[in-house]
Amino acid sequence: MRAVVLKEGGRLAVEDVPEPRIQRHGDVIVRVTATTICGSDVHIRHGQIPGIPPGTVIGHEFVGVVEDVGSEVMGFQRGDRVAAAATTWCGVCPACRRGEVQHCPNGGVWAGGEHFGKGLSGAQTEYIRVPYADNCLTRIADHVADEHAVFVGDVFGTGYHAAYEGRIRTGDTVVIFGCGPIGLGALLSAWQFGPREVLAVDMLDNRLALARRYGATVLDAREGRVLERIREATGGQGADVVIEAIGNPVTFSQSLKAVRRGGTLSVVGLFPGPVELPLHELVFYGVTVSMGLANLSRMGQLMALVESGRVDLAPLATHVFPLDQALEAYDLFENHKDECLKVVLKP
Ligand SMILES: [Zn+2]
Ligand SMILES: [Zn+2]
Repeated sequence: MRAVVLKEGGRLAVEDVPEPRIQRHGDVIVRVTATTICGSDVHIRHGQIPGIPPGTVIGHEFVGVVEDVGSEVMGFQRGDRVAAAATTWCGVCPACRRGEVQHCPNGGVWAGGEHFGKGLSGAQTEYIRVPYADNCLTRIADHVADEHAVFVGDVFGTGYHAAYEGRIRTGDTVVIFGCGPIGLGALLSAWQFGPREVLAVDMLDNRLALARRYGATVLDAREGRVLERIREATGGQGADVVIEAIGNPVTFSQSLKAVRRGGTLSVVGLFPGPVELPLHELVFYGVTVSMGLANLSRMGQLMALVESGRVDLAPLATHVFPLDQALEAYDLFENHKDECLKVVLKP
């Protein structure tokens, strides 16, 4: 089968690899019908995420059809349309039993476990093995297209996590720095908590346009005075909740200045190195800073939002390519060409 494979020196190639087989009783084999390129795939390509050897099939955001089922799988059978979480979790360890599946040492990637495209073979291919399938898959309703459902297991799940951890309350003003796919996912999610207004900051026209379509008051960072404009919009107080969805030390610093006393800064960006946290000032402000990768156990709830039409993920999928043209797709995605937001690859 064809797959996008990481090579020496950050090169990628589309080449033939062996098909996966059931290895453990809780596994499912999924025939991939749509997968995406994620920002972290670009980090992997540039060697910025350690522990991924050449020869690895990359990719971790995908949907497909159940092809084969392990003997202990209870919830799925051959032919089911499913969306997968980007990472896996065992469901029985102390972290999973606390409901913090992102910290599962048997699955959660940053806890030392396995992740599709890191430890587990990735999704930019035709067939994939999904361990702990009863936990990590969710069904897709007939009327929901692959190109929309595919975002539930990673970028929308991560955006939702940012909004959830921001503890948005009814009537709040929320500011989102960064209108990439995760920032836009956070914007769609923020509305589920009943804020008065969501302000979205970016500097690319197409991203600002989509943020506006998703109901945000947009702030074009190229026009400057971002912090002043946030202050003006909040009666001089600062925002109740700020979400940093870029992973940039400059916007992190701006985010801290944009949040009101007693407010929350929720961080989901991946930073290239250490950032400064001026605790000697912040201690007087009582700001809560929350962070972390997504808790994807909410995937079923998020799929329900998509199914009901309360959330429209369709505009995120700006480009669709056949898997064999993945290298062109990476170029487009990585270099923001042709107003690319997300590329869907079709095996
Ligand atoms: Zn991702
Ligand atoms: Zn676990």
